[in-house]
Amino acid sequence: MTRAILHSDLNAFFASVETVLHPEYEGEAMAVCGAPEDRHGIVLAKSEKAKRAGVRTGMTVWEAKRACPGLILTLPHYDAYLKFSSLVRKIYARYSDLVEPFGLDECWIDVSDSRDLFGPPEHIAHEIRQTVKQELGLTVSVGVSFNKVFAKLGSDLKKPDAVTVISPDNFRRIVWPLPVGSLLYAGPSTVKRLARMDISTIGELANTDEALVLRLLGVCGGQLWRYANGLDTARVMRADEVMPLQSVSHGITCNADLATGEEVRGVMLELAQEVGHRLAKEGLLATGIQIDIKDAELKSRQYMAPLSEPTRSRRTLTEAAYALFCRHYRWEKPVRAVAVRGLRLVRATPEKQLDCFGDYMASDRLGRLEEVMDDMTDRFGAHALLPADILTNEKTKCRVRHPAVLPKSRIG
Ligand SMILES: [Mg+2]
Repeated sequence: MTRAILHSDLNAFFASVETVLHPEYEGEAMAVCGAPEDRHGIVLAKSEKAKRAGVRTGMTVWEAKRACPGLILTLPHYDAYLKFSSLVRKIYARYSDLVEPFGLDECWIDVSDSRDLFGPPEHIAHEIRQTVKQELGLTVSVGVSFNKVFAKLGSDLKKPDAVTVISPDNFRRIVWPLPVGSLLYAGPSTVKRLARMDISTIGELANTDEALVLRLLGVCGGQLWRYANGLDTARVMRADEVMPLQSVSHGITCNADLATGEEVRGVMLELAQEVGHRLAKEGLLATGIQIDIKDAELKSRQYMAPLSEPTRSRRTLTEAAYALFCRHYRWEKPVRAVAVRGLRLVRATPEKQLDCFGDYMASDRLGRLEEVMDDMTDRFGAHALLPADILTNEKTKCRVRHPAVLPKSRIG
C-alpha cells in the first residue's frame, strides 16, 4: 500500500508566536530581531505584511527599517517558541505515533496506518491545519505525499494555511517543472554542477540516465536522482525514537574567574568538544542550545536558543553558545562556571550526510575532521586531539602532555 506522509511547516513561526502573545501586532508589519536597539541587529523572522514591504530574514535592523519605515521590532522569546513547538507536536501526535521533527517548526508525520481511524491523508492534513489554527492561533502549510522528500516539497508550494497533495499520479506534473534546487539536500553547488550537465529542473534530472548521474555526481547524485523519481524510501521515525536523550551537556567550574568574552568563548569551545563528541556517539544532532553561567558570586543564569539547523558541529555549537552569552551577559561580575547544553535532540538521518558538496563543502570538511576527532577521542581519551585555541585555556583543567596543534582556522 502507498505510504501517506505529511510534512507540516509552521508559517513565519517566530513572528506568528509573537502575534499570538501580542494581539496588537495582528496585521502589522513586525519583525523579530536579535537586538532591535542595535542598527546591526539581524532580522530573524517577519510578519506577512513586513515581508510584502520587502523585509527579509537576515537583513540588518537598519536595512529592514529602510525597506519598511513603520516596522515594529521585538526581541525573540525562545522559551515561548519551544513551548509552541511542543504544543504543535502534541497535536500531530493525536494522528500518529510517527512524528519526526525537523528543526523547531517542521515535522514529518506518517499517517499510513491512521487512514482507517481518521480518513484519507488529505483530510487528516486539513484537520491538522484547522486544529493548529483553532487551538494555538498559528497557521501551517502541509505537504501530503508518498515519501518524505515530496511531502516536504509540497509544504513549500502553497502557504500560509494550505495543503498540497503530491501523489504518484500527479508528481510528474507538479514536481518535475520545479528547479532542481528545490529538492531537499540539493545545495547551490550541486545545482551548479547539474547546470553544467544542462539539468535545471527536477524532471530533467529524473529523466537523465541514472548511471550517468552516478558517474558525474557520485552517490549523492544517485540519491538525488532517486528523489527526483519519487523513489525516496526513508522512513519517518517514531516520536520516542527521535529523542532518546533530552539533552547532552558539559560544564566546568574554572580554576580562576573568567574576565573577558574571549576567555568565555575559549571555555565554551572546550565544552563543545565533549558535547559534540557525545552527540556523535549517540548519532544525534542538537536543534537548540542552552548555556548555564555562574558568576563570581555564584548567581546562576540560564539562556537558551534554537539553532538555525540541526547540528553537532563543535564550532557551530561554540559560536551559538557564545552569541547567546554576548546577547545576555552584562558583565556585572566575572564568570566562575560555564556549561554548554545541546537541546532538543534529533536523530542524524543518513540523508543529512548527503550535504556532500556545495555550500556544504566547508561544513562537510569540518564534519569529516570532527569524525576523525571523535575516533581519536574514543581510542586515546578526551584530550588526544584538540583545537589549538583550547591549549591556551589556562583557567580550565585541560591538560595535554604532547599537544598536536592543528591550524585554528580549520577547526576553531
Ligand atoms: Mg516554517
